[in-house]
This record gives sequence, structure tokens and C-alpha cells, in this order.
Amino acid sequence: MGGVVKMTRCLIPWTNIDIAPLGKISPCCKFESNSYNKEFNIVDNTVDDYLQSDMLKNVKEEMLNGEWPKGCERCKIEEENNIKSKRQLDYIRWKDEYENYNESKGFITASIAFGNTCNLKCITCGPSASSRWRKEHLDLYGIDVPPVETLVDENIKNLYEHMPNIIHLDIPGGEPFLSEVEKQKKLLKTYIDNNQSKNISIHYTTNAQVFPNDEWWDLWSHFKEIDMQLSIDGTGDRYEYIRYPAKWSLLCENVKKFVSREKVLDNVRLSVSHTVSAYNIYYLSDFFDWCGQIGLPTPWCGRVHTPLHMRPSIFPNSIKRKIIDHLQTSKHKEMISWISLLKNSDDSQYYKVFCDMRDKHDLYRNLDYKKIFPELSRLINEQDKEH
Ligand code: SF4
Ligand code: SF4
Repeated sequence: MGGVVKMTRCLIPWTNIDIAPLGKISPCCKFESNSYNKEFNIVDNTVDDYLQSDMLKNVKEEMLNGEWPKGCERCKIEEENNIKSKRQLDYIRWKDEYENYNESKGFITASIAFGNTCNLKCITCGPSASSRWRKEHLDLYGIDVPPVETLVDENIKNLYEHMPNIIHLDIPGGEPFLSEVEKQKKLLKTYIDNNQSKNISIHYTTNAQVFPNDEWWDLWSHFKEIDMQLSIDGTGDRYEYIRYPAKWSLLCENVKKFVSREKVLDNVRLSVSHTVSAYNIYYLSDFFDWCGQIGLPTPWCGRVHTPLHMRPSIFPNSIKRKIIDHLQTSKHKEMISWISLLKNSDDSQYYKVFCDMRDKHDLYRNLDYKKIFPELSRLINEQDKEH
């Protein structure tokens, strides 16, 4: 592990609220609220319950003392490996707002998932975030995860009362252009009608298998900025395997449409997110090449944290070393932090689970990872022969 990184400052527990697809309330999407005795959910708790909780009070106190709360492990590990954490990225982005912040402003940023309706079941995702996963998860694990209506009128009202000075909204999935679309549009119209929209930026995370219709673009024209983040975890067959059952041809078509809108609309900005997992870490440099070729910005890369067996660091040393050798041949400087993460993190206790799960889902989906990831598969074969 790298040296101990002292928590210097994270204002997010004061400035931000995160509502996950099944209603879980936490300071941010990286925060692990399952490390605490009590979790909060907008279906059963009010925002006031969460704000007055011992959990949140303790987290704030630890941060004021320069300590890492146990829920902030993800940022800590990233910073130890020189990967920019959410804490650091948000501090760069909201520096002025953070420096002029006082608690009477309430939440100035919020991430609100309007449910978990999704058209995909990405292999690194699960039934809490995607409704499309429900059947496969029930069939293979016997656990049903039904969707819930998280944002009923009453709790929407309670939530919005705590964010009268909002300047930024994150709308993640499910797939945002399929989840509670009417409620989302109603919210946007409210901000347009009360003249706040010109001060608000919105960040969407979309799988880009759905291209938003003109009504969306009309609404967005009233906002300060629309950051459309396209989640793309590979190219070609690898994309289709990881983001099953997405179609690569449809993605490419929609990416072109997004790129052409961005060119003519001043307030629209495209970004790309790439979730780095055991499947695609070997191919990371190829993905950077593709983004450059197609005119997309350098991707923002996040590491799979859960499921644990999908982490990029699950491989035994012999495989890891070969992945590192391969990444070292890349011309992209961004590989350095991923090499460091591979060197410093050992999740090899999950390697066998990865192999078992991979085979289980391949069988269910009628896929064969060996054909889709031949280079990685060769490394895995060599290791299996050696042991
Ligand atoms: S340190 Fe990271 S995980 Fe913790 S609240 Fe800040 S951004 Fe979220
Ligand atoms: S598109 Fe997003 S919500 Fe849907 S399955 Fe993939 S990662 Fe999960």
C-alpha cells in the first residue's frame, strides 16, 4: 500500500446528498453506508432523519479532525494510488462554492436517481441499480430485488426543501432517460419557471443506448450546463459483453448524434466514463485510443468497487504482472495510476469467485468470454496450467 493519506477536507457531507436507485441516502455515491449500523432510505426516512443522525454527525466530526471516516475507504484507496478521488475532483470543480459555503445554504449539489429502470444488465452492475438484472439475479441466486417507488410527492417535497440553493444536479441511472421521466421533466420545469435553471448544471450518466428526444433538448436549453456522460466500458464485442445486451452499432450511432449536438449547443458538454474491471483492465489503453479516434474526450475512469470479484485487482500475481507489462507499452500517461493500483492492491482472494461467476453468467447468457477477451483468456489459461 502507498503511504497513509491524511484526510484534508471533504465538504460533501455538508454540501451534497445522494439518493441511490433504491432510495438509499448517503453523502455521495462513493460513500459506503453499509459500514455503519444504520442506513437511511428515502422510502422510510426523511431527509431530516438523515441530517440529524449520529452517523452523519460522526462523519462530519471525523472530517473536521482530518480523519478518514470508514465510509470513505474508496476515496482513500484512490488517493493512496494517485488516482484522483471524488473528494479531490469535487474540490477542484467547486472550489469557489466550497470556500464561500455556509450551512444555511443547505445542499448545493445533489445526486438523485429517479429509480432503477434500465434496459441493460451490465456484468459489473446488479439488480439494485438495474431493473433488467432482476430476473437473471433471481434465476441464478434466488434473490428477488423488486423496484420501489423512491420519489413520491411527499418525500420529493421534503428533499427539495433542503436544496433551495442548488447549483448542480447529478442524475444517474438506472438509465435516466427511462426512469421516472415525467417526474424528472417536472423538476426541470420547476427550476425553469422559478428562474433558477440558468444557475444550475446537470450531469447525466447514460448508457447511450437511448437518444433523448427533442423535448429533453428544449428543456436543457434553459440550463447553465448539461454534462452528458456516456458510460462505455469497452469497444466492439467487449462492449457488448460487458454492457449486455447493448448493441455496439447503436452506441456508435448515438455517440455521433451526441457529438454533433455538442458542436452546435453552447451549454452541452460530453464526457465519457469507463468502469475499470477485471474484464477490461487489460484493454484500457485500447479504449483510450478509440476515444481519441472518434473525437471523444479522454475518459474518466472509475474502478469497480463492488461486486468485489469484478475488481481489476482480483488477479493472481502471475496474471497481474503480464497485465502490467502490457499496460506499460501504452502511450497514455493515465495508465501509470492503474499500474500502481494493480501493484498496490491485492484482491486475489476473489479470483476464484470471479472465474465461477463469469462461467455461470456466460452459460446463462449464452456467451463465451474466451472468444471475446482472447488475450486475457490466454493469460488465465497459462496461469491455470502453471497451478
Ligand atoms: S471523502 Fe469521498 S467518499 Fe467520503 S464523502 Fe467525500 S467524496 Fe464521499
Ligand atoms: S446501464 Fe448503468 S444501471 Fe444499467 S445495468 Fe449498466 S451500469 Fe447498471
